Amino acid sequence: AQPTQPQQQLQAMSNNAASRRSYVVKEVERLKENREKRRARQLEMKEEKTALMNMDPGNPNWELAAMIREYQSTIDFRPLMDGQAVDDHQITVCVRKRPLSRKEIMKKELDVITVPTKDTLIVHEPKTKVDLTKFLENHNFRFDYAFDDGCNNELVYKYTAKPLVQTIFDGGMATCFAYGQTGSGKTHTMGGDFNGKVQDCKTGIYAMAAKDVFGYLKSPKYRHLNLTVSASFFEIYSGKVFDLLSEKNKLRVLEDGKQQVQVVGLTERVVDSVDDVLKLIQHGNSTRTSGVTSANANSSRSHAVFQIVVRPMGSVKIHGKFSFIDLAGNERGADTNSANRQTRMEGAEINKSLLALKECIRALGKQNAHLPFRVSKLTQVLRDSFIGEKSKTCMIAMISPGLSSCEHTLNTLRYANRVKELVAIDPSER
Ligand code: ADP
Ligand code: MG
Repeated sequence: AQPTQPQQQLQAMSNNAASRRSYVVKEVERLKENREKRRARQLEMKEEKTALMNMDPGNPNWELAAMIREYQSTIDFRPLMDGQAVDDHQITVCVRKRPLSRKEIMKKELDVITVPTKDTLIVHEPKTKVDLTKFLENHNFRFDYAFDDGCNNELVYKYTAKPLVQTIFDGGMATCFAYGQTGSGKTHTMGGDFNGKVQDCKTGIYAMAAKDVFGYLKSPKYRHLNLTVSASFFEIYSGKVFDLLSEKNKLRVLEDGKQQVQVVGLTERVVDSVDDVLKLIQHGNSTRTSGVTSANANSSRSHAVFQIVVRPMGSVKIHGKFSFIDLAGNERGADTNSANRQTRMEGAEINKSLLALKECIRALGKQNAHLPFRVSKLTQVLRDSFIGEKSKTCMIAMISPGLSSCEHTLNTLRYANRVKELVAIDPSER
């Protein structure tokens, strides 16, 4: 039977009451849940904050680290990508940042370098105001390329020395310098990745360039030149030249009436393959680090010069030459205050040679008639590299990322900037 109308109304009222009751219950539950969520979130935030506050209680740099992150969050990163065009310059100046080492990470070293784009780099230099509050002074630099710590030797090679290989086949002089503080990655870049103390020569610029030299030699364009390839390896220590392919024989540097410079008696080995070159490099490297030239001689105090020469078969005349220079640590230039007389002299010599080098590259850029090459042994033996329209040079300024290297890093970047003056633009004004 159908319910009567009043019965239906009663039913509806009680249904309504039930649904209202369940609505209230649900609402109370929802609020409770929200409150719990909010409390959990607050707790989480509090924990996060204390974690941040106490982040590395032993690390006095967390505040600076937060400031650097804050700065980085405002910039738009557009790093160098493999595949981007390689520009053609007579003088290329670039910078390479190495990663923090495991040891530095353990010591909680702070990374103060940001590489926002393919050609700019920022040094975040910590400063303290008179009221002792800390702030960052952000120095912007611009180079032809800026290699971030994720770039490997192959990529660095591609944009630096590789484009210069053709130069020597076209009858010019090519030069590639690794400049920077000791420990910044010069030998890693030139000679190859280290695995502990063992270096994998194949991954260095010397070997990659040698490989390309043999490629060009057999190419249709240059095959007919019938060129032979030979290599030499020497070191300049305290203004003296030592042959690394012949038990560190001391060599004389002579200049003839036509200003042609010669390293007398320098060993030059004919090489037929990349393997031959790798063997020579290994031999030279072991000579470099063995024996005694001086009580405190070490690689940071000498310039190592590896050269690949191409000549027409049977001729003594040079067709082209590629020189690779692993420079002495630029911080050694400051050894002029050392208590040790010899160290002081070596420091002065290194300083002089690096300043002369800068002037010689600048003179090349201006096709300047005045070339101050006689100022140092380094620039004297490389004289050919700084003359002629066909000569090309690249400099890779290596930097360590750590806060403790900040001052040396700024010195390195300022030097590299003087070699080729490119105007930096503040990223906030872009
Ligand atoms: P330098 O020749 O300038 O004194 P090294 O090339 O010997 O410096 O490098 C110092 C240390 O840093 C070495 O242990 C090297 O393996 C490491 N290193 C340098 N550059 C890099 C890099 N790009 N990636 C990884 N490790 C590097
Ligand atoms: Mg080195």
